[in-house]
Amino acid sequence: MLDGMQSGEAAKPKVSSVAVELTAYCNQKCSYCYNEWREDGGRSLFEGEARPLHPGGLQLERMRRLLDAWDIDHVTLTGGEPCASRELFPLLDLLQERDVGVQMISNGGLIDAALATRLASYRLRFIQITLNGSERALHEAHVGEGHFDATLRGIRALVARGVPVVGCVVVTRQNAGNVGEILELWEQLGVRHIALSRFSPAGYAASHAAALLPSRKDLLDAFTATQVFLNSCSEHIPTANQQVRSRSYQVSCTMPVPPCAVEVEQFPDIRFGTCPIGTGAQEFALGPDGKLRNCTLHRQAIGAVRDVLAPDVDLVALLQAPEIREYRTQLPEFCVGCLHASSCAGGCGAAAEWVLGHARRYPDPFVWQHIDDEFGTRLAEERARDAKKRLELIL
Ligand code: SF4
Ligand code: SF4
Repeated sequence: MLDGMQSGEAAKPKVSSVAVELTAYCNQKCSYCYNEWREDGGRSLFEGEARPLHPGGLQLERMRRLLDAWDIDHVTLTGGEPCASRELFPLLDLLQERDVGVQMISNGGLIDAALATRLASYRLRFIQITLNGSERALHEAHVGEGHFDATLRGIRALVARGVPVVGCVVVTRQNAGNVGEILELWEQLGVRHIALSRFSPAGYAASHAAALLPSRKDLLDAFTATQVFLNSCSEHIPTANQQVRSRSYQVSCTMPVPPCAVEVEQFPDIRFGTCPIGTGAQEFALGPDGKLRNCTLHRQAIGAVRDVLAPDVDLVALLQAPEIREYRTQLPEFCVGCLHASSCAGGCGAAAEWVLGHARRYPDPFVWQHIDDEFGTRLAEERARDAKKRLELIL
């Protein structure tokens, strides 16, 4: 469980990371966006509440409260688009003052020379920006028209000022065959740390699962192209006994890939991870509405707490909530007896919740699409009821 819980009366519990969703607003409308409010631009978050759509100052106050209660290693600033938030720089100041690590996820489209210069004055670990196609048409098929050039401009402005950029590729059914070319584009842009994030349907993106969820073959194609790319650009340094490959590039697959679907050992130079919920590496999500969730893709507030600013919320006790403590003890029936169960835990539970209705009853939809014969029929029925909810069975 979370580290530091028994480390003495005065010690704050250690928390690895909090992803702060700075604003519900975004200048793009990506088909793979996991924000549940993307369809309505954030209005649904505050329905029935006497609160403005973009309340000023609240994430700053909430972060102060979390930092007072927890020993947080680092914070990920995200959104919506964090560069559109007036709280971005006050929050960066706060985190720098408290000596907390900070990184950011942005679409890059709002970053011009002036903003890049200002960002370069902070100790940001990195800014992660996504390119989903090596050409304009494929990238914009994922994020909407008119964004490709602005994103490239933002990346170049950051790289030119020495701000570390992590290049992200959301691997979907539409771009899996283009991943090698996207990596080449990142190389041309001077970006050497890459996050391959295989598409996982959640939030707004759950309604695009049929079009975007990669099949097993799609992912194998994407990983093979990545391994070929890494082989071609690695330097082989001869030593006394052997050739040692120096890693000039780092590629991590940031969404878990259940090993029952893909033998990841085939791709030795790609780093693979597992779902961190319920471990010391968990990254909680703090929504623009003040709810704390298990991760950015999960929808339920931990402990049913509506806002972490509420004075009666015990933030230390909240870390012991069943949604966190019991997450890994519950396993989909399909996974019982699997050798990988303790690490994989069924893959992405958030996607299972959004697409299949329960985070712990079913394994990841990426696996389930190849297993459940009735899955396609059920989703076809749902599609007949609601054209936005659909997921096809891929064999
Ligand atoms: S735990 Fe479940 S999803 Fe993960 S590898 Fe095992 S069977 Fe597959
Ligand atoms: S449920 Fe786990 S794997 Fe899925 S997005 Fe959240 S942290 Fe990642």
